[in-house]
Amino acid sequence: METKSQQNQIKRRNFLQRSAGFAASAILLPFLGNSAYSAANYIIDSSSIPTVKLNNGLLMPTLGFGTYSLRDNICKRSVAEAISVGYRLFDTASRYGNETFVGSGIKDSGIKRNELFITSKLWVDDSGYEKTKIAFETSLKKLDTNYLDLYLIHRPRGDFKGSWRMMEELYKEGKIKAIGVSNFTPAQYEDLMLVAKIKPAINQIETHAFFQEIDSYGYLKKKGVQMEAWAPFAEGRNELFTNETLASIGKKYNKSNAQVSLRWHYQRGIVAIPRTVQRAHMIENLKIYDFKLSDAEMKVISALDLNVSQFPEWT
Ligand code: NAP
Repeated sequence: METKSQQNQIKRRNFLQRSAGFAASAILLPFLGNSAYSAANYIIDSSSIPTVKLNNGLLMPTLGFGTYSLRDNICKRSVAEAISVGYRLFDTASRYGNETFVGSGIKDSGIKRNELFITSKLWVDDSGYEKTKIAFETSLKKLDTNYLDLYLIHRPRGDFKGSWRMMEELYKEGKIKAIGVSNFTPAQYEDLMLVAKIKPAINQIETHAFFQEIDSYGYLKKKGVQMEAWAPFAEGRNELFTNETLASIGKKYNKSNAQVSLRWHYQRGIVAIPRTVQRAHMIENLKIYDFKLSDAEMKVISALDLNVSQFPEWT
């Protein structure tokens, strides 16, 4: 029987062998169309994913991988696979109940911790100064890491000001590289700023073509807070993946509605964290840096805004 260290070595060797295969096919595949993604192995050079600089100087990839609703082995396999095709930013939350599987997917990939950007979130039941520390330590343990790149207050409920005070301390201790919020309106942000000594680096909010959050967009820009889009595809609601406006724009560049959507987020300066369990979609969603939407096309997409959340059940 192998020791734990031998098992880790074998896992890493297998992962590297798989990656070498992907890298070889990457030399050929840039010349093939979208349809080739599912048919062949492919790897994106993760250093080619542009980064944004957060208000504390930390660099963050402009595109990451969401893990909402991914559980057990599907989560573990998807995370490891996403790393193998080039993703480096991962978004989880204690509420998703999958931090352990995100952690083991990362372990399986054999990648070095410092090559990743891991986000988790504090759930509302854990709000308050003392509880936040316990919840944070629990997340670290489940993810099998000793720091987070980004820790967010998941929702502005409960004693979120007490939570922020603890998050500032954890940040100063170097246990979190950046701290931020999620689902905060400008008014809730202002409320937090009455007590905050450190400005949030991020506000992660629902943003997609049908709910563009124009007010928050302008507000966060003015305040120097990076906007991050959750549900960048609206989970496919309102027929986003077959929307004719997005499709007619995509046709010009041989890109899918998903790619046009992600490119639109990128050109607006928004970080997006799409989720998928399909390898072909993982690759497709990363292939957004080789075309550019014109100003006119950006305006056409702006006109799709319904200014209504597609997730009324969550508000
Ligand atoms: P999403 O990313 O908008 O949509 C996910 C859906 O899109 C999946 O059903 C996936 O199906 C499909 N999909 C992905 N790529 C595709 C492609 N190229 N073509 C066609 N279909 C595609 O939804 P989300 O997971 O709700 O949001 C993303 C992440 O944001 C979450 O996973 C989570 O990390 C975060 N989030 C945060 C909050 C918050 O309150 N802070 C709330 C919600 C979500 P397949 O698997 O079949 O590809």
